[in-house]
Amino acid sequence: MTDKYRSWGFATASRQRAIVPRWAPEIEQFPKAQEQWGNHSRLAFGRGRSYGDSCLNSAGYLVDTSALSRFIHFDRETGNLSAEAGITLGQILDLVIPAGWFLPVSPGTRYATLGGAIANDVHGKNHHVDGTFGRFVSRLSVHRSNGQTVDCSPRSRSDLFNATIGGLGLTGVITRASLHLIPITSDQLAVRFDRFRGIDQFMSLSSGCHDSHQYSVAWLDCVSRGKNFARGVFMSANHLDERTTLDLTRTRKRIGIPFSLPSRILNKYTIGAFNSAYYLAHKPRHARTVCQHYKSFFYPLDAIGNWNRIYGTRGFHQYQFVVPPGAESVLETLLKKIVSSGAGSFLAVLKEFGTIKSPGLLSFPRPGLCLALDFADRGDATVQLIRALDLQVREAGGAAYPAKDRLMPAESFRAYFPRLNEFLPHVDPESSSDFWRRVSG
Ligand SMILES: Cc1cc2nc3c(=O)[nH]c(=O)nc-3n(C[C@H](O)[C@H](O)[C@H](O)COP(=O)(O)OP(=O)(O)OC[C@H]3O[C@@H](n4cnc5c(N)ncnc54)[C@H](O)[C@@H]3O)c2cc1C
Repeated sequence: MTDKYRSWGFATASRQRAIVPRWAPEIEQFPKAQEQWGNHSRLAFGRGRSYGDSCLNSAGYLVDTSALSRFIHFDRETGNLSAEAGITLGQILDLVIPAGWFLPVSPGTRYATLGGAIANDVHGKNHHVDGTFGRFVSRLSVHRSNGQTVDCSPRSRSDLFNATIGGLGLTGVITRASLHLIPITSDQLAVRFDRFRGIDQFMSLSSGCHDSHQYSVAWLDCVSRGKNFARGVFMSANHLDERTTLDLTRTRKRIGIPFSLPSRILNKYTIGAFNSAYYLAHKPRHARTVCQHYKSFFYPLDAIGNWNRIYGTRGFHQYQFVVPPGAESVLETLLKKIVSSGAGSFLAVLKEFGTIKSPGLLSFPRPGLCLALDFADRGDATVQLIRALDLQVREAGGAAYPAKDRLMPAESFRAYFPRLNEFLPHVDPESSSDFWRRVSG
């Protein structure tokens, strides 16, 4: 028993049994589940960068994949890479950037594992042009509870492949995976910053950069009212064109948060002050383009070690949802609710998802406007707020992201994932999670 396993949202810490295999073949040689685990279920655990309870299995075992961190093959000519599933995205980048390659899709943290990125079919700032991570996966090995390891790809056992992409770890433990990388000419990006006021202005900046910029995302002020309502800073970027010196030594010193801050430090005054300072820092009023290292652009929060402790000992919830194209007014209504609750945080991210289809049966990304924001856990008030938001997202035909969730009710889950019935036959009979027990009723 250990309490070292918890999700990034912190408040879901649970006492948890776990085993830590040393490498992929050890899992692949696991006997039938009943012989290994008795009647207990199992679930793969990456690095716990999911905010909610989808990476926890307090009623069974976790298979901690942190030691599955070996590269199997890297072709510097074609950019094809194979590795064990517990390798982190940061470890991959450290190897491939000097050879002129980059991850095809990256979430906002380098600490997610290859297996975790597949199981949540993660998206990045290039969703509008490239879609999700799963589109670039060419092969997977999945260990099932009957003791077999199944190799699958878009052409062979594509049913299991599509269920495993975005499958929340429920189809078995991914032991190895192969990925197509994308070529880059620099580890630096040219990033353009535009300030905006209101969702309409955001929309015109976002649609205006679809053809010109590979990456786009906005920070949105979820606290200010009146003339400052829905103000933000829109960022659009491309990798620099000239081949610059690829320098991995220029890492910024990580600033750690050694202990959890008292919850009262985060209040509407401190958060409001942060939001104003951030907005005003992006002067002048007109756009500017700067050169940024890829770590600053893609992983700004990774520079602050254990930043999740900023929310204090009670932890926090992240709520991330998408509403379909044309539902901008719903987003505005939800934003007004968040502003008037005074519970919004300074870490709100707005992104327009594109129309490229996600391969996974349970993939979250779909066309529309996607907002992610943190709420410090203030008990019942926070739960009621998220439940109210969820109801409106459901009514609008949108969806919430399981990787960020620990409150989603079963009826929302069924509404958000219309291909659930296709997915169910692929659920490994001995796999489960805290999230799955809740949403599967
Ligand atoms: C700062 C920050 C920024 C983020 N930004 C984004 C973003 O921009 N876009 C986005 O999509 N997500 C984002 N996330 C969420 C994060 O990328 C995902 O939750 C990711 O899946 C976490 O990976 P992990 O390896 O830590 O997996 P865990 O959180 O440990 O597990 C996540 C799920 O993957 C399953 N899993 C893990 N490993 C395996 C395996 N080997 N086999 C089978 N299943 C497995 C688990 O069972 C669980 O269901 C962000 C998270 C943080 C902390």
